[in-house]
Amino acid sequence: MYWKKDICKVLMTAEEINEMVKGLGEQITKDYEGKDLLVVGILKGSAMFMVDLVKYIDLPLTMDFMVVSSYGNMSATSGEVKILKDVTAKMENKHVLIVEDIVDSGLTLSKLKEVLKLRNPASLKVVAAFDKPEGRRVEMECDYSGTVVPNEFVVGYGLDYAEKYRNVPELCVLKPEIYE
Ligand code: 5GP
Repeated sequence: MYWKKDICKVLMTAEEINEMVKGLGEQITKDYEGKDLLVVGILKGSAMFMVDLVKYIDLPLTMDFMVVSSYGNMSATSGEVKILKDVTAKMENKHVLIVEDIVDSGLTLSKLKEVLKLRNPASLKVVAAFDKPEGRRVEMECDYSGTVVPNEFVVGYGLDYAEKYRNVPELCVLKPEIYE
């Protein structure tokens, strides 16, 4: 495997990730029974998680995707999220579930939620595969989160470093020399 030489630690194996996603899907299935569910994946990081998760949600649903800009160097208070690709579906009166790869500072999702609330969804919740609560700069609680990860830069299962490693099936910490 091309990526084994670049990583120092596997935090979660593919099997463990699959179990985690299955559990989330089952919980979501219970909570959204009888509701008009629109699942919105935030590209590109959530792509793997999104396709796996919806297979474990045993309900009729629609899928859509958004691309949002990262907050860059903006401060917690001035940060604005820019929508680079919007959903095509209408959110009004739908139960919207945002699918995110990882929540770190919480800036992206807290700003995105503010924007999407203005579209009058019936409800607006967030599911994140991974959660780094130690990185928070603003209050942002996930309604569903798979696993808490330590405050380290992780790759794999959709998460990249310089656009690489998204196809790594495990959640890993890269060797420091890769960044240097
Ligand atoms: P936040 O706004 O919560 O700080 O995080 C926004 C985005 O930063 C996440 O959706 C993700 O794309 C990226 N990010 C945060 N932490 C990590 C990490 O440990 N690894 C990778 N690859 N991306 C991260």
